[in-house]
Amino acid sequence: MEITFLGTGAATALPLPFCNCPLCCKARTSGGKDIRKRSSMAVNDDLLVDLGPDTASAAYLYGFPLEQVQYCLQTHSHSDHFDPAHLITRLPEYASAGVVPMKVCGSSLTLKHMSEGVFREDEGTDMLSPEGMQKLSIQIHQAFPYSTFSAGRYRITTLPCGHDPGDGSMVYCIQDGNSTLLYATDTTSFSQEIWDFLISYEFHFTAVVMDHTYGSGINGEGHLNQDQFIEQLRIMRKNGIAGEQTLVFATHISHEGNSTHSDMEREHAAHGYAPAYDGLSIRI
Ligand SMILES: [Zn+2]
Ligand SMILES: [Zn+2]
Ligand SMILES: [Zn+2]
Repeated sequence: MEITFLGTGAATALPLPFCNCPLCCKARTSGGKDIRKRSSMAVNDDLLVDLGPDTASAAYLYGFPLEQVQYCLQTHSHSDHFDPAHLITRLPEYASAGVVPMKVCGSSLTLKHMSEGVFREDEGTDMLSPEGMQKLSIQIHQAFPYSTFSAGRYRITTLPCGHDPGDGSMVYCIQDGNSTLLYATDTTSFSQEIWDFLISYEFHFTAVVMDHTYGSGINGEGHLNQDQFIEQLRIMRKNGIAGEQTLVFATHISHEGNSTHSDMEREHAAHGYAPAYDGLSIRI
């Protein structure tokens, strides 16, 4: 499985457009890995996690064929993860040609909020109605918590996370028969119920990509900070959910308490993980 980080920033991206803090100023001058677009991830050339506001430009930058995507897994509908303006370009009104059918997966609440966003963007298009699905060339898969379903060659398992229960936010385990990826942003610390589920079904991840919105000691709602990230990792390693060979990446990185990519690389290495960066592509 090849994974490509299309974006590794939090909702505010990095740098923040109007912020003059030392990290944002440094990011503007150094560019490169310190510029973070809103989070989304590509798996091989046919699966996308989160159709976010930066996904199209990231796809063009990193050579990901967005126009070939057959499966879109939505973690939730927040504006840094779902941009209805991208989805409606599939409509015939925009003279979109040869649109490849795409299955859109999410919780019932996420799908409901996505459809409200699409309706606001293009009045009259109900993405959950048969007509709307046909016009957008999509199929809908309403995923339940702790469910497993197939998406082509992938086996997907959903975990309900505490990020925004009102949006039914979920994180995903993605398996292709060789590798198992955990893509876990946005999330709070996993509940005992999630740990019990992962342990009882003997999940062992080849790669873990996890929320690292805040740095050490900073507590924001609905996300992990560095200390919580490290604790999640400790629990995974203790229970064999992650092992020596498991690749672990931090994503959804905000400027609150985090530092430059190179400083984070040094700091995270001491705990056995690495900060991801936009455009990082890796075979797992
Ligand atoms: Zn987010
Ligand atoms: Zn800043
Ligand atoms: Zn969110």
